[in-house]
Amino acid sequence: MADDSGEEAEAAACRDDQEEENMAAWLLGIKTLKIQPYHLPPLGPQDVRVRIKALGICGSDVHHFKNMRCANFIVKKPMVVGHECAGIIEEVGSEVKSFEVGDRVALEPGISCGRCCLCKSGSYNLCPEMKFFGSPPTNGSLAHKVVHPANLCFKLPDNVSLEEGAMCEPLSVGVHACRRANVGPETNVMIMGSGPIGLVTLLAARAFGAPRIVIVDVDVRRLSIAKNLGADEIVEVSTDIQDVGAEVAKIQNAMGSGIDVSFDCVGFDKTMSIALNATRSGGKVCLIGLAKSEMTLALSPAAAREVDVVGIFRYRNTWPLCIEFLSSGKIDVKPLITHRFSFTQKGLEDAFETSARGGNAIKVMFNL
Ligand SMILES: [Zn+2]
Ligand SMILES: [Zn+2]
Repeated sequence: MADDSGEEAEAAACRDDQEEENMAAWLLGIKTLKIQPYHLPPLGPQDVRVRIKALGICGSDVHHFKNMRCANFIVKKPMVVGHECAGIIEEVGSEVKSFEVGDRVALEPGISCGRCCLCKSGSYNLCPEMKFFGSPPTNGSLAHKVVHPANLCFKLPDNVSLEEGAMCEPLSVGVHACRRANVGPETNVMIMGSGPIGLVTLLAARAFGAPRIVIVDVDVRRLSIAKNLGADEIVEVSTDIQDVGAEVAKIQNAMGSGIDVSFDCVGFDKTMSIALNATRSGGKVCLIGLAKSEMTLALSPAAAREVDVVGIFRYRNTWPLCIEFLSSGKIDVKPLITHRFSFTQKGLEDAFETSARGGNAIKVMFNL
């Protein structure tokens, strides 16, 4: 017994000597990110250790960076940021059969408990015990290496790059939203907002077979990106709530037939008003963007037309389908990647500033 533990300690010390220190991007305060050492937890029997190669900055990362919070999640102590990632497996736990060292994988960022009734019913994204990369207090994955459960890693085919693998995370939001709203080959889709989430929703809706997609925004430059990505029609609107009536007519006109499903990827009173009013009787509105936690708008007229409102929280069981869409060419996420940075202190600061500024940045990616 004593001998065994002595040998183990020696082996561990030896491992530490051989390996360079793992570094990660720590959020220390408002707009303060530093690359500092990150000691990984030990590799469990069902875990893999992954060398992160690509990581995209998400809107939630930017919220944390700017405000030390995102919705009700508050950063109270230093935290490693980031969650949209892919990498290469470096070590597999003793019970992992599905992977080998060297496999390229995309990582699903949330670890659910697996025991509660939501997990058991399959809605594991709603698990109250969820530990999600880069959502406080759980450390994220903008690091050279992370330890993660093997069952949340998904092997990438040769024709899907690591950057595309990292894009499975934002794309999953669009895929889950399309599932929630039952988008299919007979569903005409309207999307409010052509930011990153509006655009992945556009790509997902098309891949689910939506024959006609109209996308709406206040920003003509973002609308032209949506057009290039395959939107059938684009409609520019104002930020003035008084214009809702006229703009609903304009959007319905652009669709040319009933709007079966609307996605609000913004989440303001006005965008939700437009979505509720523009959608045909018996249709669905899916609220994705949560710009405001409280909205004041007329709900009864939509309810009286049996327009269903559904929400989403992240996603579940989406990685295999996302990888299939990317591998088959049904979805091309490459045009969404507008900026690339290296994982240095300067690169880290520039990348977050670029993403926070918005402008022509859609997805800002780190290559590690
Ligand atoms: Zn994300
Ligand atoms: Zn659970």
